[in-house]
Amino acid sequence: MSNDTHPHPGCLIVVAAPSGAGKSSQVKALLAADPQLAVSVSHTTRAPRGQEMHGSEYWFVDNAAFDRMVLADDFFEWALVHGHRYGTSRRAVLQELERGQDVVLEIDWQGALNIKRLFPDAVLIFILPPSWEELERRLLGRAEDTPAVIEQRLANARLEVSKARSFDFVIINSRFEDAQTELQTVVRAQRLRYSAQRRRQPQVFSALGL
Ligand code: 5GP
Repeated sequence: MSNDTHPHPGCLIVVAAPSGAGKSSQVKALLAADPQLAVSVSHTTRAPRGQEMHGSEYWFVDNAAFDRMVLADDFFEWALVHGHRYGTSRRAVLQELERGQDVVLEIDWQGALNIKRLFPDAVLIFILPPSWEELERRLLGRAEDTPAVIEQRLANARLEVSKARSFDFVIINSRFEDAQTELQTVVRAQRLRYSAQRRRQPQVFSALGL
């Protein structure tokens, strides 16, 4: 992949946050509100949690399968997060971008920064919790993880939050609806950037001599 602006009509929107900040619920609501958005389903070596289904939240694969995909260069990026590997599928993202969908990547900060290197036009959004106390409260309230996992996630959150300064936009998820409005606003504005408009409406631009 060259370092140029990608040629496809769709926009790439990357959302990162420490776990417990409400990222998944925010992205879910964003997708429900906006049919022009598609989410990229990542591959991971971690086991499914609760009601998670293969191909829905993630493609759940074993270490050997993940290794094969890395060797085949199937990922735009992959990272080790909380002890498991996660990767963004090159083919799935390109397919959506080519058919004009805007693609949301719900990935960690390492993946977000790698995507920005590949696609300088990608917009990077970081969702912050309103406080450390609230983050801990939300992690404990989810009752999805063991206490050891929660401890690890809280410790990792300190590092993750420090990466927010490298992102284009920051949304503080205090009241869900307010944060959702802000997220939708950022996505709408992203579509109006010169480069995005030019990719989506090349005939208008060339007729105008642009
Ligand atoms: P979880 O196990 O809680 O679903 O996800 C753990 C972290 O991995 C989250 O921050 C999630 O956004 C991130 N993640 C999910 N898919 C990918 C991916 O494809 N690449 C990267 N770099 N991170 C991912």
